[in-house]
Amino acid sequence: MKEQTYADKLREELTYNPKHGSAAMKEDEIKRADEFCEDYKDFLDNAKTEREATAEAVKLAEIAGFVPFEKGKVYTAGQKVYRVNRGKAIMLAVIGKKSVKEGVRLAIAHIDSPRLDLKPNPLFESDELAMLKTHYYGGIKKYQWTTIPLAMHGVIVLKNGEKIEFRLGEEEGDPQFCITDILPHLGAEQAKKPLGTAIPGENLNILVGSRAIEGDKGTDLVKLNVLRLLNEQYGIVESDFLSAEIEFVPAAKARDVGFDRSMIGSYGHDDRVCAYPALMAALTCNNPDYTAITVLTDKEEIGSEGNTGLQSAYMKYFIYDLADMQSVDGRDVLSASECLSADVNAAYDPIYADAYEKRNSCYLNKGVCITKYTGARGKSGTSDASAEYMARIRALLDRKNILWQIGELGKVDVGGGGTVAKFVSNLDVDTVDMGVPVLSMHAPWEIVAKIDVYMAYRAFYEFFLD
Ligand code: MN
Ligand code: MN
Repeated sequence: MKEQTYADKLREELTYNPKHGSAAMKEDEIKRADEFCEDYKDFLDNAKTEREATAEAVKLAEIAGFVPFEKGKVYTAGQKVYRVNRGKAIMLAVIGKKSVKEGVRLAIAHIDSPRLDLKPNPLFESDELAMLKTHYYGGIKKYQWTTIPLAMHGVIVLKNGEKIEFRLGEEEGDPQFCITDILPHLGAEQAKKPLGTAIPGENLNILVGSRAIEGDKGTDLVKLNVLRLLNEQYGIVESDFLSAEIEFVPAAKARDVGFDRSMIGSYGHDDRVCAYPALMAALTCNNPDYTAITVLTDKEEIGSEGNTGLQSAYMKYFIYDLADMQSVDGRDVLSASECLSADVNAAYDPIYADAYEKRNSCYLNKGVCITKYTGARGKSGTSDASAEYMARIRALLDRKNILWQIGELGKVDVGGGGTVAKFVSNLDVDTVDMGVPVLSMHAPWEIVAKIDVYMAYRAFYEFFLD
């Protein structure tokens, strides 16, 4: 063996050289990661929307012994409670041994993903094709959403309050839906346009029917046939779309990717890939010192707006209710609390290397990623975790042998993004972003590495118990 030189010695002692995870990891730990991800894939397929993710979280939480939180009731250390916000967000708490006055531990992920929502008056017929008009939700590259199989999820609420749930296009034998695109033979004009404008938003119309109602003359017979079928199957009329939240999402299921099955391809990794590990961390953490709270929130993709988004007071109210239960001032709880804002970062993609700065990018298989700040340009629109809090978190991860890395979202001035971190920080809580690197983020089929998913779970779990 070659003798270690002085330079080798200094290099080892002084320089920061994160190791590649899968090569450095033991076989049994990789096996645990793979097993964890089998259940994660089921979650992805069962929870494609915020409502479905909330329902799935309730189901799994109740199996794990969680009960609905009742304001005014006193819960003691080790007890497990949850509160659902309007069917679209959920907070799960494991009561700690210490008073909440000493702070709580928060892991917060979001369960909404980019998709195509229906407009309030969506159904029309054009040249004997029935279509639904959509309004896209979140940041999408519109061309990616044409000519892929789509499934219909969501609810229509009738005037009498009855709720009709839709989940069509997921089961074997279900019909699916799609947005058409021009064939290349006639697409020369389209091909000249910049990618961002080649498919206008108003072209994202979903094909839902082509057969006319029989034995009649008149207009809109295909649309009428669709309405007849919807009425027969669901008891709705056209105006019921006015009180609906219908989301069209990719119909594809989560699958292993690669000859080595090291990755998972799926719709909605952003941010279920953090939501599921954060949920599992709450479900498996028993008797923590500090009260551990996982929040799965809605509306992150459009700025955390509205009463199910994290800019609203709903999480604060929950923490205040926990404080009241122990006769503590709610603001004292917040000021003493710590948060991991559990959201994804963009994994380095060698095909698009120009957009990334290699030394400060995150990579597939190098573990859970800490993002000190997000934002755009001169750190605009972000919280920035303190050096003190960064030190505390990296020490914890090292102490627990969790594979982790740092990451910025691309090169300076190339673009930017944001998470819920700044809204939690605004409540006087120490917060940093921590999550899983994703390739093709916001695409209909995103890619993550299984090792990173498992490391996210371990990180949230150890944070809760620390
Ligand atoms: Mn996200
Ligand atoms: Mn996102």
